[in-house]
Amino acid sequence: MKTLRHLLDSITRPARYIGGEVNQVMKSDAETKVRFALAFPDVYEIGMSHAGIKILYHILNAMEGVWAQRVFAPWHDLTGLLAREDIPLTSLEEGRPLFAFDVVGFSLLYELSYTSLLGMLKLGGIPLRAAQRTGGDPIVIAGGTFCANPAPVMEFLDLVVIGDGEEIVSEMAGICLETKERSERIAAFSEIQGVYRPGDSRMPRRRILPDLDRFPFPGRTVLPHIGIVHDRIGVEVARGCTHGCRFCQAGMIYRPYRERSYDSVLESFSQGLASTGYDTLAMMALSATDLTYLNELMESIHCPSREVSVSIPSLRVEGITRNVADLIASVRKPGFTMAPEAATERLRSVINKGNTEADLFRSVSLIKDLGWRSLKLYFMVGLPTEEDADIEAICALSKVLSREFRGNLTISISCFVPKAFTPFQWEAQASQARYSDLIRTLQTRIRHRNITLKWHDPRLSFLEGVFSRGDAALSRVLLEAHSRGAYLDGWGDTINARAWDEAFATCGVDPASYLGPRELKCSLPWDFIDMGIHKGYLLAERTRALAGSPTEDCRQGECSGCGACSPGIANTLRPSLEPKALFPEPSAHGAYAYVLGVTKELGLRFLTPREFQEMLRRAVRRAGIDAVYSQGFSPAIKLSTSPPTSYGIASRCEYVQIELKHPLKPDEIAARINACLPRGSTAFSCTEGRLKQVSDATYSTVRPFTLELAPDAVIRKEGKVLRVADFLEETGPSWLRIAFRQGRTISPVLLLESFSRDGIRLEEIVKTGMRFEGEDLP
Ligand code: SF4
Repeated sequence: MKTLRHLLDSITRPARYIGGEVNQVMKSDAETKVRFALAFPDVYEIGMSHAGIKILYHILNAMEGVWAQRVFAPWHDLTGLLAREDIPLTSLEEGRPLFAFDVVGFSLLYELSYTSLLGMLKLGGIPLRAAQRTGGDPIVIAGGTFCANPAPVMEFLDLVVIGDGEEIVSEMAGICLETKERSERIAAFSEIQGVYRPGDSRMPRRRILPDLDRFPFPGRTVLPHIGIVHDRIGVEVARGCTHGCRFCQAGMIYRPYRERSYDSVLESFSQGLASTGYDTLAMMALSATDLTYLNELMESIHCPSREVSVSIPSLRVEGITRNVADLIASVRKPGFTMAPEAATERLRSVINKGNTEADLFRSVSLIKDLGWRSLKLYFMVGLPTEEDADIEAICALSKVLSREFRGNLTISISCFVPKAFTPFQWEAQASQARYSDLIRTLQTRIRHRNITLKWHDPRLSFLEGVFSRGDAALSRVLLEAHSRGAYLDGWGDTINARAWDEAFATCGVDPASYLGPRELKCSLPWDFIDMGIHKGYLLAERTRALAGSPTEDCRQGECSGCGACSPGIANTLRPSLEPKALFPEPSAHGAYAYVLGVTKELGLRFLTPREFQEMLRRAVRRAGIDAVYSQGFSPAIKLSTSPPTSYGIASRCEYVQIELKHPLKPDEIAARINACLPRGSTAFSCTEGRLKQVSDATYSTVRPFTLELAPDAVIRKEGKVLRVADFLEETGPSWLRIAFRQGRTISPVLLLESFSRDGIRLEEIVKTGMRFEGEDLP
């Protein structure tokens, strides 16, 4: 029977689908009573960057009898092939079809992933509507920010998780271990606080985890083979935010503010370094500069040798102190990002952004002095009460800041989208035409060689606005759009606009009607949820917004009565402690060269040479081998490699030179690295010395072939014409020996494709030998 793995040679980025990564959890049938699929409705590189999946994977797999596996949305090319070949979507760990899991849990964070949820259910062989599912189907649940207004997708879910998922999934898994029947499980799940069964008349109440330390952030996480969006050890240091920006849904629905303890965070970083071999640490929070012990933590995770860098992805304009910037500046200098959101003091007061123009100029001057040359500023347009002067101010401020900064300035524009459970949930959203006009105005007015203007796609902002305050009538539109091919809509360049237009028209739904203002007295589609935020507070905040009155951050000032705190649940600030250095001071060392022989087989043949090198670097770090780093702003373990094997071809003989700071026995190096390599790669040799020039490589094929070669046969490659006779040294019935000439060679695939009629495929070729200058033939 054909499976997804048989299609890998026909699609883009097959390494997304191969699994087998370091730290992937495998269990046997005998060890497993219940299987959870953790599904993410976007591609691997995005889903693997999501902290929630890491947390749930860790919690569930730590439970005896429970096996959580990952499944991500396939790219368009693979969805077409799966549908045509009638192959179901499967998990990465076990290759198990989605329909054969007990529970399929989606993380839903973005309105534009709703059609991907439907696409994944369809490909996974699961009926789309909850009402169509019967005893043998999995229970389909979803959690994430979408839960603030699940109305448009409720029809497709058996259950909705509202709030923090840690305790909920543990309780669900416990129930599954005790029960067998789907209906019995659903009934028991719906009794869990924070779980809503669509149709239930009881008001669901958000689940809040009062103490994040009860579930330490996992340090040992699955290490992707390929580059992902957040390719680093990202540890959630705090959850929630009390700054009270009036447009920000996350800032409202994750209240109160809860910090993890300093020791817990440090332990997660330490485990992450040991178990992944990443060389970047990131503090994840809605506003990491709020962290009580930020300075001490920064000092603790500062690596004096600069072999590990630190990044803080969310910096508030007013939160950048000299100390913080100094510590970040001492390592790598990627672009700096800040979000003033509005360019006038008036509008910043309306949205309660809490920073002033003086804060912005002070921060920009600080980061310029510390050596940054690239700065990105986020602004929102279409905000409530916005006037022409506010748009004009974005242009003026950008130009002044550009002069001040004297580096590359990127101005990134997005459209204000009113969200459920925010003080602006009743406000209108700018129409698609109005937003497009505003972008054109900014394009015309901000013309400067040092300023780049970027903007969020108006079509996507429009759909996001429709679904973020949508109701159950949109379920039918989603089904229609899905059946017409809408999928991975968040990827603006592949959005199927026609499918959406037709879906709205067929269902007789005017999407623009969802963007208008809402009556304050009208009931809203999400009113049935108790999110822990009082409607009275949201209304009061709206009134203050229109009056331009700021509201204090309740961590420093008075409680403004939002409703998130209750007995046992409150803002949790952790004490500062003495910094504990995670990295030693660098000491004098030598450079001892070794050549390692490694294989690159199974799914790893789909790694690019660069990805394979990065995989080796991480294995060296995990093995605790003290390797020499390159110099410069971005130090990396020094690696030299033999000419890499072409993408898609397996190799039993890749050679890599590494340098160690202190000598070690070659056998010990090979053994330690071997223990840290993923499935598909083995370190088969290690010798002292430096890598020599390669003279030729031998490739074998699993089937015999015949080359029909004229003496003057040529191959054209990258605009060059190569004479085959100069490179092809010898050939047998099922092997080829190809020479390297001044660093050039010809690909065995091109040779076989051009001169053999035997149809040898990529997966049938393997590099079996490599000979260095001066070596005899074996
Ligand atoms: S209830 Fe008061 S203290 Fe708690 S998060 Fe809301 S405003 Fe802050």
